[in-house]
Amino acid sequence: MPELNWLSIKEAHDQLASKQISSVELTQSCLDRIDAVEDQVQSFLAITPEIALAQAAVADRMLAAGEGGPLTGVPVQIKDVMCTEGVPTTCASRMLENFVPVYNATVVDKLINQGAVMLGKGNMDEFAMGSSCENSAFHPTHNPWDLDRVPGGSSGGAAASVASGETIFALGSDTGGSVRQPASLCGVVGLKPTYGMVSRYGLIAFASSLDQIGPVGRSVQDCALVLNAIAGHDPRDATSVAREPQDYTATLGQDIKGLRLGIPEEYFVDGMEPGTRKAIDEALAKLESLGATIKPVSLPTTRYALACYYIIAPSECSANLARYDGVKYGYSYQETNDMWEALEKTREYGFGPEVTRRVMLGTYALSSGYYDAYYLKAQQARTLIRQDFDRVFQEVDALVTPTSPVTAFKIGEKTGDPVQMYLIDVCTLPVNIAGLPGLSVPCGFSDGLPVGMQLIGPHFSEDTLLRTAHAYETATEWSSARPTL
Ligand code: GLN
Repeated sequence: MPELNWLSIKEAHDQLASKQISSVELTQSCLDRIDAVEDQVQSFLAITPEIALAQAAVADRMLAAGEGGPLTGVPVQIKDVMCTEGVPTTCASRMLENFVPVYNATVVDKLINQGAVMLGKGNMDEFAMGSSCENSAFHPTHNPWDLDRVPGGSSGGAAASVASGETIFALGSDTGGSVRQPASLCGVVGLKPTYGMVSRYGLIAFASSLDQIGPVGRSVQDCALVLNAIAGHDPRDATSVAREPQDYTATLGQDIKGLRLGIPEEYFVDGMEPGTRKAIDEALAKLESLGATIKPVSLPTTRYALACYYIIAPSECSANLARYDGVKYGYSYQETNDMWEALEKTREYGFGPEVTRRVMLGTYALSSGYYDAYYLKAQQARTLIRQDFDRVFQEVDALVTPTSPVTAFKIGEKTGDPVQMYLIDVCTLPVNIAGLPGLSVPCGFSDGLPVGMQLIGPHFSEDTLLRTAHAYETATEWSSARPTL
């Protein structure tokens, strides 16, 4: 069977619907690929072949009965931050090493109801805090383009599994860039939807006002198809937005003539790699040749975004992670009768250094006396950042920036310096702060490593971002490049 694991969702669906292949065959092809390369890539925290093959058999029955949709029978990897009933959901943390949820996240239910096939759970930075997948308590993931390098993070497992052909698509989550940045570093497409578009029910919380689930795929169309499947109002998530369902593939293939694209000068930061700069400049020329107009714009409050994020995200994280106390669920230190000692030892063992750092930062920023100076200030800055975006979106339809100022770095290169690691997300964080949609699409290589271009649009402009990225993708060949593994 010729390499079914490399099919796009659309190709897989066409071949499944016309009975050229079965979902069991397609799933087996991904499992074979996992067998062949997972030793090197290590994108999974758990591989679930029995579940996958059982779900594939169900999908084949659906297809035989003429039921199902574009994702029926198509394999997916789920980032281990989303609850999966009966399947351990660890958040790459020792705290949740033995946690088995009794329910599915809404997105997981949606995929399963549509007949998608779960191959397993994706590696990530612990509690989604990180930019390299090195903060996983269990093992790092390796970039398929260069195994000595990081895949990005925190959804490094998602991007690496898609880029290495272990799965057809993956679900990640993005609090400050965690879908887009690893997609960029691994040469695949990643979409962070508008805040509220996709239910967070069953997504283990990091920073609730920033977290959003998004697809990682090998093409823009694949991401659009997955967005169709996971978007929509959920009464179990109070921040989920009620909107008419929309077909995000509908505008794919339409041209981008007359589209106004803004280039924010603040995103072309010092320290940006020349190869990245070159790839973005060439991408802009290509977008212009496709009929878009390019206009320099300014978002002056961008310089506050990193500081603002690193107050708000740790503050929310310190509140959200207070639930891991050794009593309700998760790891529990039992060797003492003293309540405080039990609490302390539970958290000391359960959380890794980055999570501990964030909890401490957040607790500090929220404590009385510092609240006004830090947390409140950050919320005020957040409003200014959002207003900056509102203003430029009066003049342009979308913004184009690098997704990451650098390409994939060496494993271990930045682990000693948290601030260097935080700086990696300088181009993606503002999007979460403002609740906007953002998409990363491959736009070239620098020294053999993938570069990603980020598109940012107003709230609920996913159709514009997908149409633009699709027009660019079809006019170039970057998305079809594959690592030699
Ligand atoms: N790298 C950022 C952080 O460490 C973003 C992570 C994310 O989007 N989950 O917080």
